[in-house]
Amino acid sequence: MNGKLYLVATPIGNLEDITLRALKILKEVDIIAAEDTRHTLGLLNHFEISKPLISYYKQNEKSKSEILIKKLLEGNNIALVSDAGTPGISDPGEEIVRKAIENNIDVIPIPGCSALINALIASGLPTKEFLFIGFLSALKKEKREKLEEIKYETRTIILYEAPHKLKDTLECILEILGNRKIVLARELTKIHEEFIRDTVSNILSQIEEVKGEFVILIDGNIESQKDVEKANLNDKTLEEHYDFYDRQGLCKKEIIKKIAKDRDVNKNEIYQYFINKK
Ligand code: SAM
Repeated sequence: MNGKLYLVATPIGNLEDITLRALKILKEVDIIAAEDTRHTLGLLNHFEISKPLISYYKQNEKSKSEILIKKLLEGNNIALVSDAGTPGISDPGEEIVRKAIENNIDVIPIPGCSALINALIASGLPTKEFLFIGFLSALKKEKREKLEEIKYETRTIILYEAPHKLKDTLECILEILGNRKIVLARELTKIHEEFIRDTVSNILSQIEEVKGEFVILIDGNIESQKDVEKANLNDKTLEEHYDFYDRQGLCKKEIIKKIAKDRDVNKNEIYQYFINKK
């Protein structure tokens, strides 16, 4: 019988954030595939777990996937872990998951920490919908192209960034996306956990040398949100458009003025329309 592939989330700082189920799986599997075996050894030693480790990192994902799939087909259960957080999220994992599925091997996620989710829930920015980008390219041109691509994104945008690139990334955000509201979620779950909530330019003027790990959250493009709302309203009948503002408690005069502005027409035209309707 084939073994199972477990994708085990590990803490992003505070070791108490590992789940009971994750510990159970790490104790039970035959092999642990780890992004950095020395790093994972520290975690395993802390929880007194001793297991054969195989390295599985970005540069050897393809070749190591073949080896791990062979071991799974021989009946070994394998847990995949990354250095921190959830495997496959800006970390190795995608390749082996795809190959496991092709080989009819069960893939079982063991939930736990992910920096992006914890940063988002405490950010104060809208959480209903969001766009996770992960790391921007290290190449200037590609980095700028990606930011251009998301310029009109209305949902909350989430980025991962290394501390030494933070300043440059914030400068690019300011230039391309404008002076948006952003949140820097720093050192999550660790002693110096901090949320910096301000505009990009204010944050840029405050930060000199930044230390630790960061998630950058960017408020969606409010202007394009307004455009979408406006376009939606303009698709409605004049009566529905009127009702929309009526429900907001506006008086007749204000409503007519707003409809005229949304539709880019003279307010007398709208006024006449409603007079003739009576
Ligand atoms: N797989 C991980 C996850 O599920 O979040 C992400 C790994 S990625 C290689 C590392 C990046 O995640 C860091 O550069 C940082 O942007 C973010 N990160 C990880 N741990 C963090 C923490 N404790 N506080 C803030 N950001 C963190």
